[in-house]
Amino acid sequence: GRLRVGLLFGGRSREHEVSVVSAAAIAQAFADPLNGDRYEVVPIYIQKDGRWRCTETVSAPAPSLDNQSLWSFPAVAETIDVWFPILHGPNGEDGTIQGLLEMMQRPYVGSGVAASAIGMDKILMKTFFGAVGLPQVQYVAISRSELWSDPCRYRQVCDRIETELGYPCFVKPANLGSSVGISKAKNRQQLTTALETAAELDRRIIVEAGVVARELECAVLGNDAPQASVVGEITYSSEFYDYETKYTDGRADLKIPADIPATVSNTIQDMALKAFTALDGAGLARFDFFYLPDNGQILINEVNTLPGFTALSMYPQLWAASGLSFPELVHRLVQLALERHRGIA
Ligand code: ADP
Ligand code: MG
Ligand code: MG
Repeated sequence: GRLRVGLLFGGRSREHEVSVVSAAAIAQAFADPLNGDRYEVVPIYIQKDGRWRCTETVSAPAPSLDNQSLWSFPAVAETIDVWFPILHGPNGEDGTIQGLLEMMQRPYVGSGVAASAIGMDKILMKTFFGAVGLPQVQYVAISRSELWSDPCRYRQVCDRIETELGYPCFVKPANLGSSVGISKAKNRQQLTTALETAAELDRRIIVEAGVVARELECAVLGNDAPQASVVGEITYSSEFYDYETKYTDGRADLKIPADIPATVSNTIQDMALKAFTALDGAGLARFDFFYLPDNGQILINEVNTLPGFTALSMYPQLWAASGLSFPELVHRLVQLALERHRGIA
């Protein structure tokens, strides 16, 4: 019979809407003639309040009005052969759903609990990248309590950031994605505002030295023998790759493959594979880099363990350019989930 794929989408994060679009593209890829005989998609929607809903199609149904328990799952969950969580951000990409699926003892697409959790938290992620010797920007980690304990603390924190990093710097909530809550600060006043913004969104904040760089991305696919895709570049004309630029049509362009020397793309692929393996990544991840044309430096910026997966997203496009179509890609991801569940890889 056909394998029942539980497509988990929506979710409690600020990237809920992106998840719905990604899930629709994935459902379409499973309906492709290549996959239609192999898989049956069962869409399961997670409302913004965290409750799970069965849906006929992949779209965001109106939130239910009943007060069903947060801990009851649709009966159809029992019948799922393999889960495909396509949830971005906290409560989806961060190991929480992965832990639940582990407890259900069913195979699922993507990384496990530890890799997901480290990848989501920018402070843990940078500590980890540093520990495995991957070059990255200078940064300072701050907790909200440091800022909120006493009004003078803002001045002390700003002094420290100016000494250690200087301007411009980037201020980010530790646990978000899609550039939500990220600001670029060019002076003390902007830094103070940026810290306030980030502190409202997260208990912990990371501040990074700003670099002038090209933004290059590499997709990884596999388990114990992962492969790296061609390298792509993101270009835009805004100040940085912020939320507006990411999700407004026509604001950003993807160039695949990037127009860079072969040595640069080889180094990026090697760094992506090294990071994936060290992190114990599984299935998929997208690694993002800064390339400083002035001195040729390549710095790792971040990992996204459940990257955007719409038809226009970088991850599937990088694979398409590497010879793997979208329907082949989702098939491969399910096979990798089954392989990992069986304990082979
Ligand atoms: P997210 O996980 O939300 O995508 P990123 O860390 O990738 O967060 O930051 C979003 C964007 O902000 C980057 O794509 C880049 O345009 C800009 N940016 C972030 N950090 C820096 C930095 N240290 N120097 C220069 N630009 C940065
Ligand atoms: Mg990210
Ligand atoms: Mg990013």
